[in-house]
Amino acid sequence: MKAKFDKELIKKYDRPGPRYTSYPPATEFTEEITADHYIKKLIESNERKTPLSLYFHIPFCEQRCLYCGCNVIISHRKGIEVPYLERVYKEMDLVSQYIDKDRKVIQLHWGGGTPNYLEPDQIREFFEEIRKRFQIDENAEISIELDPRYLTDEQIKVIKEVGFNRVSLGVQDLDPKVQQTVNRVQPYELIKTQFQKLRDAGFQSINVDLIYGLPYQTKESFERTVDKIIELNPDRIAAYSFAYIPQVKPHQQLLPKEALPSPEEKLAILEMIINKFQEAGYVYIGMDHFAKPEDELAVAQRKGELWRNFQGYTTKKGVELLGFGATSIGMLYDGYFQNYKTLRDYNKAVDEGEIPVFRGYILNEDDFVRREVIMDIMCNLGVEFKKIEDTFGIDFKTYFEKELEELKEMEDDGLIKIEEDRIRILPVGRLLIRNVAMVFDAHLRKKKELKFSRTI
Ligand code: SF4
Repeated sequence: MKAKFDKELIKKYDRPGPRYTSYPPATEFTEEITADHYIKKLIESNERKTPLSLYFHIPFCEQRCLYCGCNVIISHRKGIEVPYLERVYKEMDLVSQYIDKDRKVIQLHWGGGTPNYLEPDQIREFFEEIRKRFQIDENAEISIELDPRYLTDEQIKVIKEVGFNRVSLGVQDLDPKVQQTVNRVQPYELIKTQFQKLRDAGFQSINVDLIYGLPYQTKESFERTVDKIIELNPDRIAAYSFAYIPQVKPHQQLLPKEALPSPEEKLAILEMIINKFQEAGYVYIGMDHFAKPEDELAVAQRKGELWRNFQGYTTKKGVELLGFGATSIGMLYDGYFQNYKTLRDYNKAVDEGEIPVFRGYILNEDDFVRREVIMDIMCNLGVEFKKIEDTFGIDFKTYFEKELEELKEMEDDGLIKIEEDRIRILPVGRLLIRNVAMVFDAHLRKKKELKFSRTI
């Protein structure tokens, strides 16, 4: 089912909301949840014997892209990463002591920052340190985010050798003026060459990240980028909307505000992106993601088995995610645990022999039900009432009476169809799944009610 772009409805429902990489979202995390809770939950997780997913955060970059919304440390001077890696190894010791050795890692991801900030030898050593502490399944999905500007032939060779089988390239926009303005100059020829080298090295799965809404972008200019990306034939594409928040990210003040595309232009760009990638044969998975029909994301969505985690969409529902490094988040079955965000706090905790968790969330019974419903909406484009009823022992229509009532407006607008036994997301609603999911978000509802009562 292709997504259908409806400008008026997108405008009508345009409001900020969570991206539901988790439910409840990270805004609900509290500092009442500490490393002790994490340890308790890690030990309990062994009883479930679920496979593991590991996330490693490498927060360093050579140069700041002015649109960047991540928590990064900019340093040309190499060496800063050495003590960081030592601490990540120590953190792995602190955490892995609670994990049964026979639990297999079926997914592993290095994100950043820029993971290829690391030298080839460091990549090799880092990977060996992971293997010393965890058992990585031979069919594991092992992925890495790469900055094409700094990617060397030696790095490509090493990431392949150690076992990475998926790569993600940050492209963002190929227009020279846009690139210069955002301080990320990487000509198309360079991207094409790196792409070819990665294919030649045997990487079957390559993802490309794009960003729309950057200064000087127009529908026409970004269309040229999209055309060139389609020529490269990546397996997955993520096209993110640029969030201009100079009050939170002061370096964004260096961007020429007057050159940002208007909301109308940004919508036109989004429409073009959705249409072009779908016409080129990509499946619109949801939110910002596209994949080839044979890609396992698209296959899992067709089977109703897709899920979301902090890296976006995943086929590995039910795995428990352990996050390592500053800012990273672990997702166990019944709790989320985030590490300190600054290097200073992260270093201090690890140096004192503590797991560096500073906040988190433990799910209650209602959260479990709502998480399943929200993830089904976000990932599998609908909710089957019986599945939820059988899993949680509830009567769907009674439990969600208020929500079903509220959804009627969306049904009238053609976003969804409420049937006797399910809710279906319709083509027009595909771009607004977040809004549908928000109706089931009890935390958001509570906030809205509080705000309302305060106003009165
Ligand atoms: S490379 Fe990525 S993480 Fe680093 S500054 Fe640029 S956008 Fe941010």
